[in-house]
Amino acid sequence: MREVILVLNAGSSSLKFALFELAAAGVAQQALLSGQLDGLGARAHFKCKGANGEIVAESEPALAADPARAHRGALAFLLDWLATHNENLHVCAAGHRIVHGGSRYSAPQRITPALAEELDGLVPLAPLHQPHNLAAVGALAALRPELPQIGCFDTAFHRSQPPLAQMFALPRALSEEGVRRYGFHGLSYEYIADVLPQHLGARADGRVIVLHLGNGASLCALRGRKSIASSMGFTALDGLMMGTRCGNLDPGVLLYLMQYRGLGVEGLSDLLYKRSGLAGVSGISQDMRTLEASAEPAAREAIELFCYRIVREIGSAAAALGGLDALVFTAGIGQNSARVRERVCTGSAWLGLAFDAEANTRHAACISTPDSAVTALVIPTDEEWMIARHTAKMLAQ
Ligand code: ADP
Repeated sequence: MREVILVLNAGSSSLKFALFELAAAGVAQQALLSGQLDGLGARAHFKCKGANGEIVAESEPALAADPARAHRGALAFLLDWLATHNENLHVCAAGHRIVHGGSRYSAPQRITPALAEELDGLVPLAPLHQPHNLAAVGALAALRPELPQIGCFDTAFHRSQPPLAQMFALPRALSEEGVRRYGFHGLSYEYIADVLPQHLGARADGRVIVLHLGNGASLCALRGRKSIASSMGFTALDGLMMGTRCGNLDPGVLLYLMQYRGLGVEGLSDLLYKRSGLAGVSGISQDMRTLEASAEPAAREAIELFCYRIVREIGSAAAALGGLDALVFTAGIGQNSARVRERVCTGSAWLGLAFDAEANTRHAACISTPDSAVTALVIPTDEEWMIARHTAKMLAQ
């Protein structure tokens, strides 16, 4: 039998998964299998890839159409499929990506019924993600009560931030009830912080800004490889412009929309989470590849604004760090868009970043010149592996 860890990332209508083998030296970095079930609650679609990216299964399973039972149906299907696909695999634990661990948890936790209830209390802080993350936990507990489940929080890595970086200038009572900056994408930043010495040696402990640029986008300021500031705050809406989210916004805009446009909570939520960002500004797509391929002025302007906002936020994070030694690009856009990296690096020349255009075009790992005061790097992130490693560590305790 091969012992494997099941990594799960449950969204409103999707369940992403990956399986990592436990080895004597830890967790193999290459997932044995990975994929997703999407269209949950409607027409489900299952796709699974092997270790080399080859498609090993694709189907449209008939799952419960009832959204409330969607995750249970999806997990039951996945566990059955795994058992028949490879009888030699034994799932020994599950690691979940859980968006919110509140202000209390700065590390992964074993999920007990009491913890699940406590995390459920954080739903108002992340209503679009937390309920679905927890639905998968509950569904798996019902299907496999004996299976250890570990929660890995997107907020945990940022708990090292100094108190001021976590505060809003709101009345103290609101802050005490939890209205404060939490920060997200923590598992991605933790992975980058972990591998940084391989790229920078002792300078990894200096002043570093990591740009996680995917559909969701944020940046994190690291010192001593710990988070000291981040662009996302109370929710995953703040900071950088994203695929469909607005990022940093004058709160007066919300007051205006409520007062003069009659927008309520649902309308505002839809606008800010789903109809803004690259999609809203371009009117074409939320997808950077589509925008880069488009000749439309609105597509070009959306990319320009995306990069402008990043450059501005880099300035803010560099101020929090008191200077800058390295800038790291990661996630879908950061790892693949030479155009975005060029705009961001040239816009950050004032910090001492000397950009190497040729290295950038060939997607090299280092895209600054050898004499640049600020080293610019491209490092692929691996949140699933981070979750698998945390889960293995918790199992060993
Ligand atoms: P998620 O936040 O959903 O995990 P990803 O990290 O996969 O997102 O990033 C998705 C984004 O990366 C999309 O905007 C996509 O267009 C962009 N992207 C992926 N490949 C490329 C590429 N070759 N060039 C430019 N953008 C890319």
